[in-house]
Amino acid sequence: MSVELYNDGIHKCIKFNDLTGDGEIQSNQFLIINQRRGLLIDCGGYRIYSALLGEVSRHLPTAALDYIFLSHQDPDIGSGLNLWLPISNAQIAVSALWTRFIPAFCVRGLSEERITPIPDKGMKLSLGETELVAVPAHFLHSPGNFHLYDPISKILFTGDLGASVGTDKESISTAEEFDKHVPLLAGFHNRYIPSNKACRAWAVNARQLDIEMIVPQHGTSIIGKELVEKFFDWVENEKTALDNFSDSLFKLQ
Ligand code: FE
Repeated sequence: MSVELYNDGIHKCIKFNDLTGDGEIQSNQFLIINQRRGLLIDCGGYRIYSALLGEVSRHLPTAALDYIFLSHQDPDIGSGLNLWLPISNAQIAVSALWTRFIPAFCVRGLSEERITPIPDKGMKLSLGETELVAVPAHFLHSPGNFHLYDPISKILFTGDLGASVGTDKESISTAEEFDKHVPLLAGFHNRYIPSNKACRAWAVNARQLDIEMIVPQHGTSIIGKELVEKFFDWVENEKTALDNFSDSLFKLQ
């Protein structure tokens, strides 16, 4: 299913949320379009390639893809690049920490001159007549990690931060729904997000953006300013992997 997160006729944000199969972690892929130019967020791996290509092609030709933005380096994020690069001219925008690792997803030479390294402090990416912002989100959960902020839709695409697993709820928009959603957020956050110190630093910066929606790469979107604020509060206070860490994790069986 594709979900239109935003559409004013010129600028669109589309979410593809059912391309992954049984036994794989559910993943969301996103297409942002401005003035008929496109940016794909987290293209995913080999298994979803043909279905995602079909979906993207309904909206614009792959020749109009200017960027494939990777929030980080995980296989569910960008391991399908070997298929996407030959059919587009898109630049891969990824943390400078990962530029030497990304070629491992591709046949030799394919990613040469196709990578736009994002410096630690982030950068703006031009798309059509707008600019998207790669927002630093290091250690949430990868050491070189970025969220993407779209100032037109006011969506912050947060990669693995705010991920929920074990739900097929597309979005939540009330405080009551958020409270019920917290256990689903916590399961992922408590193990995959390593540092509460990083979470708190992230929240300070994110509060300065005008955000209407928090949209993670796994699970449910969080909609409306009230819930965005509740999410910030939760992220600042929730325990992460290292807060819960105990030496027993390293105990050999
Ligand atoms: Fe990840």
